[in-house]
Amino acid sequence: MIHKEQYISIKKDLLATKTILVAVSKLQTIEKIKALYDLGERNFGENYVQELCTKQEQLKELNINWHFIGHLQRNKVKYIAPFVHLIQSVDSLKLLKEINKEAQKNKRIINCLLQIYIAKEESKFGLDEVELTEIINEVNQGYLNNIKISGLMGMASFSDNLAIVEQEFKYLKSIFDQFSNFEILSMGMSGDYELAIRCGSNMVRLGSSIFGARN
Ligand SMILES: *Cc1c(COP(=O)(O)O)cnc(C)c1O
Repeated sequence: MIHKEQYISIKKDLLATKTILVAVSKLQTIEKIKALYDLGERNFGENYVQELCTKQEQLKELNINWHFIGHLQRNKVKYIAPFVHLIQSVDSLKLLKEINKEAQKNKRIINCLLQIYIAKEESKFGLDEVELTEIINEVNQGYLNNIKISGLMGMASFSDNLAIVEQEFKYLKSIFDQFSNFEILSMGMSGDYELAIRCGSNMVRLGSSIFGARN
């Protein structure tokens, strides 16, 4: 069972702050996705290519915007390129070039977010500021015609210390503010999204708070 009351209440709060919700459906069932869809949700996020493709195939009659939010391997871009709405987790120039290539094959422009490394945890992916500058310089050359960089994504440390998390969110917001053409700042998960919004997020990715614990 999805957390219906919780979803409705979160959605109301997000509306008040003009924050976009991405319902993170990784490791959740098709039935739960449909239940949330029936409540009006259209943005769903997945972390694993194969799982995303299976779900997309099963739900292709529905009008879902699929977000890819996990670590993406270059050799798997081709599987999601035909339909993906937003790739939130671009963490290298090579990956971005591959997305551009596959988008071109599909005669699409694929929206992307650059994932910035903000946590103090080795396990998380993302670009540092030097790598970000390199990618932006490359994009500004103007030859990657089938991708659009719409903004930034980041994951804060998995920590009870809200001061650390707040510092990380504010750091990401300060980078975001350097780019006047960026529209989306995707930061905040179930445990920290309210803080993320106070720090300037306009897109949150919520899984367990809406769907319940993952399988
Ligand atoms: C799993 C995941 C989420 C959602 O996490 P919850 O704590 O369940 O809200 C958000 N963003 C990314 C990148 C994830 O991998």
